[in-house]
Amino acid sequence: MPETSSVLTGKCMCGAVEYAVDDAFEYSMNCHCSNCRRTTGSAFKPFAGIRRERLRVVKGDGAALIYGNGDDAHDVHCSTCGSLLYSVVREGAYVHVTMGTLVDAPTIRPSGHIFVGSKAPWYEITDDLPQYREFPED
Ligand SMILES: [Zn+2]
Ligand SMILES: [Zn+2]
Repeated sequence: MPETSSVLTGKCMCGAVEYAVDDAFEYSMNCHCSNCRRTTGSAFKPFAGIRRERLRVVKGDGAALIYGNGDDAHDVHCSTCGSLLYSVVREGAYVHVTMGTLVDAPTIRPSGHIFVGSKAPWYEITDDLPQYREFPED
């Protein structure tokens, strides 16, 4: 794949941690699972997936708080303000960037809702994107 993508910046609420990620996300979804709802305090978490090496922490690497198994799947928060910046997933090969922490707008848009089977009963999905009880079939 040609290296033509631009680079997006993201940061936590307090600004202690900043990252740079290529604007080349492979997929994007709104996740309604209870973990994503709790960690963001929101009805769902819009996230975008990309290979891990295409994201770099450019400021405050030492200020990052790892939740989970640092050698395997884990979430990366700012240890000062608590923002969830991204999650390392899929045997460490991918990151799921929490789109609310992006400063710059990515090209990709969420293409569906996942884990709708556990969504908050007080939130009604009002768009026409496909809905999946858990993950899409393929
Ligand atoms: Zn912070
Ligand atoms: Zn989730």
